[in-house]
Amino acid sequence: METTTDSLRIHAGTEPGPNPNGEFVLYWMQGVAMRTTGNPALTFAIEQANLMGVPVLLYQGLRPDYPWASDRIHTFILQAAVDLYQGFARRGIQYAFYLDGGDHSSGPSPLVSLARRAKLVVTEFFPTFIQPRQLRGLRERVETPVVAVDASTLVPLRYLDLEYATARAIRPVLHRALPHYLVPISTPEPSHRRRIELPFDEHLNGSSTSGDLAALIATLDIDHAVAPSPTVVGGERAAWDRLDRFVTKGLPRYLERNDPNLDVTSRLSPHLHFGTIGIADVLLRAQQAGPADQFAKFLDEALVWRELAFNTVYFNRRHRSLGAVPEWARRELEAHSDDPRASRYDLATLESGRTHEELWNAAQQSLVKYGELHNYVRMLWGKSVLLWTASAAEALRLLEHLNHRYALDGRDPCSYGGILWCFGRYDRPFYRRPILGTVRYMSLKAARDKFDVPAYIRGI
Ligand SMILES: Cc1cc2nc3c(=O)[nH]c(=O)nc-3n(C[C@H](O)[C@H](O)[C@H](O)COP(=O)(O)OP(=O)(O)OC[C@H]3O[C@@H](n4cnc5c(N)ncnc54)[C@H](O)[C@@H]3O)c2cc1C
Repeated sequence: METTTDSLRIHAGTEPGPNPNGEFVLYWMQGVAMRTTGNPALTFAIEQANLMGVPVLLYQGLRPDYPWASDRIHTFILQAAVDLYQGFARRGIQYAFYLDGGDHSSGPSPLVSLARRAKLVVTEFFPTFIQPRQLRGLRERVETPVVAVDASTLVPLRYLDLEYATARAIRPVLHRALPHYLVPISTPEPSHRRRIELPFDEHLNGSSTSGDLAALIATLDIDHAVAPSPTVVGGERAAWDRLDRFVTKGLPRYLERNDPNLDVTSRLSPHLHFGTIGIADVLLRAQQAGPADQFAKFLDEALVWRELAFNTVYFNRRHRSLGAVPEWARRELEAHSDDPRASRYDLATLESGRTHEELWNAAQQSLVKYGELHNYVRMLWGKSVLLWTASAAEALRLLEHLNHRYALDGRDPCSYGGILWCFGRYDRPFYRRPILGTVRYMSLKAARDKFDVPAYIRGI
């Protein structure tokens, strides 16, 4: 396969060569690289289409039955799709979005029928949530080759050939790779343009309004109790606006990022999760804007901690369980599993933010209302659940649910990186305490020494 895309980004299947009868290259967007530029999967799809002398068709479907499907997640994705309609139309590239209403009574899905008509299917490689199963599912159903391209990380997942246990261990490896990977990603233009007939009606276009999106979403059987975020808007334009704001207002004070009242972090995590902006573009822009010491810290979060989480999830099939927690921490949590808990809360009490800790309740409210939670508060939020549940396994299950249901950046490798950290992953032993053993403790009470807790609570 001739391509400028780094071969380590390419996760090919075992299918033989392209479908000789195919009419186009199908780029199947799976909702983790919803952007028109800086997208290695798109670059690869267009290059292949040009080589084969056919057009490229971009297709994205959204089902109502994926875990935690809600008005919030659907709204973000539909907003991003409207931007894609506009962005691709300007370049004469056909993009089609299929809003699946849930009726699968007859015939192959639009994806399967389009894939069968394609010479080649290109999609995104994503190491967790529904994407691995979806990829396997399509490969089982069609003979057309399906190539998945790693479009989420700066340094391809396959560049690293083992699972790293700490940030300290992975940091030098990622830094060595930086000069090669911290470069703009080129986007070629298609050399063949022809409109492809679609096997479904499109419900969206570049002029769809927020009212249109809300009306469509209201008809679906999804979780309507989780409302669209009032602070985070989906789409490529919103992502670039947020990046602009961050490099001018937040980045110069990024070293103060542990104070949640300052709003100096990028708040790009939902955009990085859905891929409405690429990590290479974010880092290049931030590097250019500087200052160098603030950028170095940002790089440590957005490259080292983020890609450490991707590395964990890619290599560790048990990343949704305590199986991904280091042996020493598992032993400690187990040894203290019978320690008395001063407070015990069930899912309903946690979800509605009705614990005895005001700061925790405010953190939960932040997730419920806005779909966002500041990193420092999120660490306190996660650690506390461990103290209030019967077992570490139950705490993990509850945190996964609360995070994925409400957070727009949830269902991501970084979700597991963050949650597993609460249980001792990437960390070392500290002083022994009840329930946690030597797993690091963080005190909601002591947070008052770190930032203005009443101001934070008032601000939610
Ligand atoms: C219990 C718990 C759950 C978490 N769940 C998620 C989640 O579902 N999705 C998610 O993206 N992050 C999660 N994190 C990590 C972190 O809280 C968020 O990435 C961060 O708060 C996002 O805010 P920001 O974009 O302003 O970050 P910035 O400080 O601006 O950082 C830039 C980017 O770097 C990455 N990043 C920053 N901190 C971390 C980190 N500690 N680990 C991994 N990547 C990081 C994110 O992609 C982030 O957008 C979780 C952390 C904890 C403790």
